[in-house]
Amino acid sequence: MAGERDCAVIIIGAGPCGLMLAIELGRRGIPVIVLEEKTSPARFPAANATQARTMEHYRRLGFAEEIRALGLPPDYPTDIAYFDRYTRHELARFRLPSAQAARAIIRTLTGSWSAAELPHRCSQMYIEGVLRAQAQACATVSIRAGWRAVAVRTTADAVEVEAERVDGSAHAILRGSYAVGADGAGSPTRKTLGYDLIGESGAVRNFLGGRMLAIHFRSSELYNVIAHPRAWMYWAVNPVRRALMASVNGRDEFVFHTQLREGEEAGRISDAQAKAIFHLVLGARLDVDIIARSAWNAGYALVAEKFRRGRILLAGDAAHLFTPTGGLGYNTAVEDAVNLGWKLAAVFEGWGGAALIDSYETERHAIAERNTAYARAFADSVGGFVPPPELEDDGAAGKAARKVAGDHLEAHARFEFDIPGITFGGRYDGSPIIVPDGTLPPADSVNDYLPSACPGGRAPHLWLRDGRSLYDALGFEFTLLRLGTRPAEAAPFATAAAALGMPLAVVDVAGEEARDLYQADLALIRPDQIVAWRGNAPSGAADVLRRVAGHP
Ligand SMILES: Cc1cc2nc3c(=O)[nH]c(=O)nc-3n(C[C@H](O)[C@H](O)[C@H](O)COP(=O)(O)OP(=O)(O)OC[C@H]3O[C@@H](n4cnc5c(N)ncnc54)[C@H](O)[C@@H]3O)c2cc1C
Repeated sequence: MAGERDCAVIIIGAGPCGLMLAIELGRRGIPVIVLEEKTSPARFPAANATQARTMEHYRRLGFAEEIRALGLPPDYPTDIAYFDRYTRHELARFRLPSAQAARAIIRTLTGSWSAAELPHRCSQMYIEGVLRAQAQACATVSIRAGWRAVAVRTTADAVEVEAERVDGSAHAILRGSYAVGADGAGSPTRKTLGYDLIGESGAVRNFLGGRMLAIHFRSSELYNVIAHPRAWMYWAVNPVRRALMASVNGRDEFVFHTQLREGEEAGRISDAQAKAIFHLVLGARLDVDIIARSAWNAGYALVAEKFRRGRILLAGDAAHLFTPTGGLGYNTAVEDAVNLGWKLAAVFEGWGGAALIDSYETERHAIAERNTAYARAFADSVGGFVPPPELEDDGAAGKAARKVAGDHLEAHARFEFDIPGITFGGRYDGSPIIVPDGTLPPADSVNDYLPSACPGGRAPHLWLRDGRSLYDALGFEFTLLRLGTRPAEAAPFATAAAALGMPLAVVDVAGEEARDLYQADLALIRPDQIVAWRGNAPSGAADVLRRVAGHP
């Protein structure tokens, strides 16, 4: 790298996306500077759900257990429950395991939930603490908190990011080889590149279509006031005021979101009025301490027209905006970082070709389109349901209306909160760095995932005889799996990898179960655990490796 550069990659924004990218690069020894305008870590709960695939990536990096210990107590159920008001009728409940149970259950599941990790329900503010510490632990990562990027531009062979301290006390011009705008929904980087967000921005729904008020509050009495069994997420469905509330720590912290009505403005709602709104949804009066408030827009399904211009890339909310149904925004942001991290590192390490960085946009733009569409379908399903006026009545009409609502909500909960198809089924078919083998990928589906080693999808998971996850046995970079009882020849791959300077681990997985699962004797797995190629013989190994490493 040219001597006058301050680092290889300048990341703008230390949200989950920027931090995860810093970890992926830092673990590979790539010099990174992360600029973050906030001076202190995030304190608002924001996202509530870490999907199973994100947990698998945290496992790959060695901190899934640390994440799973965060948030709710280990034995706290992560049920999703629907009420008219929180203290009145329970309409539906989808039962989900506690963190403690999730660890044990995952070892027994097959089919759609054949995975190394189950999801974890936990506030983003806790997760960001771990991601930040993990990034800071990398010797080559420097996080500059309180620094705002004010301009980003490319020169002939580099990027320049102009930054200033938010208190105005300092100004700097940083030079790197690449800049990544992980700078969130309002992304100044995206605006600099002049890329529009394409899609739906003003969906109007009975709920989750419009301006939302979020209140993070403390109450040690709330569980005593709500007589129903504890849940992780509490939805209120009634004709007067709809809301959702998540338990943040399982003891006394909660985050409550309600949709503002025509004429209401978050900034003009006093704390007393905000509490009155909460009391209306609770169906009781209970004094709570407001910790923080925030306002946000529900109803987005937007994707930036492009994710890259030359040496400047976009990732996370900077590249796509979701309605939070399905909990896909933060998870898609993390997977962007995973996809981009190894590719950027490969270019700096010298084995990555030009097509590698190009493939980031090809692969992730399609996933952003897919995931925003799924999130929108969830929002339509739950937010488009209009509670009838008699829903809360005591008589037979009220009872019947609650049954209809309950049936709809129970079916909806299964649709939105049991999504192995979305979380494991994202694919990179058609990517120039995937080698197709002529087989058809399984159909894309929300709730069903069919494990398949058809190149372009997540490597099918299995538990090894020694009790480890297959993923724990993979190398950190590329892995050639030799499957079955008679291991195929691997030497041509090892020789070709050495010639390219590409790190390649060869891992034997004996037994017919693995061979049957992969339907091949050999499978080449990328650093992000995607199948890049499979076959029964190593013929053409050099061409395969050149292609998956982005060489012409
Ligand atoms: C109320 C709410 C609930 C949500 N619930 C969910 C959920 O359940 N599941 C889910 O998956 N997602 C959810 N989301 C979405 C989730 O929070 C985002 O998708 C996620 O934070 C995106 O991560 P990011 O790193 O891309 O962006 P961000 O988290 O927005 O991080 C961007 C960072 O860039 C910094 N920055 C911006 N401009 C500059 C600059 N010029 N210089 C330096 N720094 C800058 C910002 O300060 C910020 O820290 C929710 C969001 C909200 C608001």
